[in-house]
Amino acid sequence: MIPASLISKKRDGLDLTKDEIESFFNGYLSKMVTDEQMSAMLMAIYFNGMNEEETFSLVDIMLHSGKTLDFSKSKEFVADKHSTGGIGDKVSLILAPIMAGLGIKIPMIAGRGLGFTGGTIDKLECIPGFNTSPPIDQFHDWVEKNGYAIMSQSKEICPADKKIYDLRNKTATVPSIPLICGSIMSKKIAEGISGLVLDIKVGNGTFMKNHDQAIELGSWMKKIGEAFDIKTDIVYSNMEQPLGNYAGLACEILEAIDCLRGKGPEDLMNVTFELGSKLILQSGISKSRSEAIKLQKNIIESGEVLKNFEDSVQDQGGRLEEFHLQSKPDYETHVHSNKAGIIQHMHTEIIGWHLVEMGCVIQDKSKVLDRSAGIEFLKKTGEEINSGEPILRVFCSNNQILNKVSKALLKTVVVSEEYLEPKPTIL
Ligand code: URA
Repeated sequence: MIPASLISKKRDGLDLTKDEIESFFNGYLSKMVTDEQMSAMLMAIYFNGMNEEETFSLVDIMLHSGKTLDFSKSKEFVADKHSTGGIGDKVSLILAPIMAGLGIKIPMIAGRGLGFTGGTIDKLECIPGFNTSPPIDQFHDWVEKNGYAIMSQSKEICPADKKIYDLRNKTATVPSIPLICGSIMSKKIAEGISGLVLDIKVGNGTFMKNHDQAIELGSWMKKIGEAFDIKTDIVYSNMEQPLGNYAGLACEILEAIDCLRGKGPEDLMNVTFELGSKLILQSGISKSRSEAIKLQKNIIESGEVLKNFEDSVQDQGGRLEEFHLQSKPDYETHVHSNKAGIIQHMHTEIIGWHLVEMGCVIQDKSKVLDRSAGIEFLKKTGEEINSGEPILRVFCSNNQILNKVSKALLKTVVVSEEYLEPKPTIL
């Protein structure tokens, strides 16, 4: 295989065969293909796309780059949820213990922050001791014991996604339908699940900016899931503003814990319950959406879900008490509105990039995450605000960055005199 000849083929808009994709992508794992060559290939795929056969080949090759989990002996329904990425999206942390409480097993392989979007793994690693890359046998045992566990791609499972994910992050090649399909679906199929719900985010705070792109991605992912015998449902949800009241790292874990205590904000709980009800219907535990939503609300009220979360964190090595003592940021400030009116729009992707700057996503290995960093959204779209009233609370451990970012953040929230009906959370 001559890497440059395959790059030029894709650059020129030609299709690659399965053998060519396999030798290039496996060559990257064995270091025969360099980071520079893979970056060029990713950019060529970003611009020229992949046809159905190429995309299926990519998923299959990425899936078989490592081991897979086997839950075929499980008596319970084994399923998962994945989102295409957004700001303030902590649904996985809430949904997994709810599903486990209802008897649906969730072996979740999640990712770190990607581009301007936050990642479940980075958030969980704010809990001191939390092990996100256990051996897969250990992971399997945790799922059997607690009903759910969350880990990252590792050298053992989905190593191709682990390596390519980092490079896509650095090379601005994330928003590509075949690359997203390869990344998400290889992880989900490797989990050995029978059911899946995909939360496809749509809007200015995610990779699919409009409905047509989102529908195209959704139909590809459904087709791939079903080809691998996984019941696959798609939910399209609004990402025109951050989800919930917080975006960042430790603050999102704290907000997720509030949700597990029954004190979650409406938009976040709506998305969680909608996704959860798809898995409950797939499992046959309930036959109606309204009953599925009620089951989730009741189990949160019973306190069982919070207990599931605490037990699971403890088994994964996490020390929650220490986390609660440490999660206070060193510096914080408020951003005040300079006019009165109604919040009409949020430049959500820009908010995401400011979170990256504050250390909520790693863009290159020389930088470290700032676990205490984040933003509290004191007002959301459609809400009234007075001149001088705080819109955002911004916090992190670096005062210089805090000052710079908080000034820039004022421009990300558009206040107008005119009322515009905010978009619903579920589209
Ligand atoms: N989440 C993933 O795991 N991969 C993507 O490409 C996008 C979101």
